[in-house]
Amino acid sequence: MGGVWVALGANLGERERTLNAAVREIGALPGVRVLRRSSWIETEALGGPPGQPPYLNGVVELECSLSAAELLAALHAIEARHGRVREVRNAARTLDLDLLLFGAQRSSTAELELPHPRMEEREFVLAPLAELAPDLLLPVSGLTVRRRLEALRRACNEALPRHAAADMPQVFATPAGAREWLAARRPSSLGFVPTMGALHEGHLSLVRRARSENELVCVSVFVNPLQFNDAKDFERYPRDFEGDARAVGEAGCELVFSGTLADFFPESGGARESIVAAPAGPAGLGLEGAFRPGHFDGVATIVERLFEIVRPNRAYFGAKDFQQTLVVRDVARRLGYPQIVVCPTSREASGLARSSRNALLSPENLERAPRIYAALCSARAAWRERGVRAPRELRAVMLRALDGSGLEPEYAQVRDPERWTADEPSFELERAVALIAARAGAVRLIDNLRLDLDESPA
Ligand code: AMP
Repeated sequence: MGGVWVALGANLGERERTLNAAVREIGALPGVRVLRRSSWIETEALGGPPGQPPYLNGVVELECSLSAAELLAALHAIEARHGRVREVRNAARTLDLDLLLFGAQRSSTAELELPHPRMEEREFVLAPLAELAPDLLLPVSGLTVRRRLEALRRACNEALPRHAAADMPQVFATPAGAREWLAARRPSSLGFVPTMGALHEGHLSLVRRARSENELVCVSVFVNPLQFNDAKDFERYPRDFEGDARAVGEAGCELVFSGTLADFFPESGGARESIVAAPAGPAGLGLEGAFRPGHFDGVATIVERLFEIVRPNRAYFGAKDFQQTLVVRDVARRLGYPQIVVCPTSREASGLARSSRNALLSPENLERAPRIYAALCSARAAWRERGVRAPRELRAVMLRALDGSGLEPEYAQVRDPERWTADEPSFELERAVALIAARAGAVRLIDNLRLDLDESPA
């Protein structure tokens, strides 16, 4: 059976080597296969005699045809081989192996307690578990691993004096927590950066800009299902809340929050169909709007709700998502706030626009992807050097540049950036933004470039 989880820990000797050896030994047990293992994370020793060295901890998932008792006995034998003597509770140890879950099996004998009685209270178990199985439902709390870990961390944060951990922002797993905290702080100016997480340098450039212009900076991390028109894309979308919180803290953000769809739209009772959408309006028509039906309504709906929760003075968006900046400007105009600040696109040295989805590219497609920027640059060269102004001709230049790239363009067109039209303009332009969407394997990438202006560096 699968769904068998074992926690590993070591705080003596060559910890990493011991843990790796233990994984090999577990995998060599008859009837046991190691399906995956987390990275090893370092944590301070909890309880036990004072002055213990820190632990390395991780988890593995197994497929196992042994019984739970047989597996436990085999794990104890491995511990013993590595010199562990189970005497002093919480004392230092070369190797600690705990059986966390054995599928849905429950047991409460003196020898075997399943699920492991303290697993949902331990960050050093939940953090590596969240890396592999964030959506696994925990048997005691009924929460997913991710939610349980966030709740545990929030409880720790609330118990700590503010800024006890250098550069760590306040983290809230729900928008309600963030709203309360903001209401108590009442900053003179509040900068807000909405994101879907898996943050990279592009996002951080927005946070730094917000930092330089406001007393307080808030970041939201929410992979918004309403703006995904492709369920697979939503599932595959990279997630790393813990890494995101750390990164935005270092960039100067004081508050980061997340939540579920039901947290953001409690009036819907968690039912997606009952959420009243904020229509994106004319800026949502054409190009992204045409290729991703419903996408911009999803963006407008969450952005409006995020603005209502955070009530920022300024909100920061990336030029990388050009059409989105038009949609959110319309939302802000309708609400009467905040000021929308559009920041330059941050690029890799190859010209490739930074994107969370780049992490999903195969090495081969990562090599191809900069051809998108190259195609935008050829349109700019045609505009500048040959005086080309006809949208059709600029489209042809870009499509030619993408020919043979191994990328599949969905569109490569120009628009007047100040007068959005759903369709390609049929007249010559005085100002132009070139926009491309292309697929690199299963990954859809977008980028754009002003043809009439220099791109300022991010
Ligand atoms: P996302 O997490 O993709 O929803 O992006 C959150 C915000 O970061 C949006 O305003 C994006 O436009 C912006 N952003 C994403 N990638 C970049 C980039 N490479 N440069 C600048 N801003 C970006």
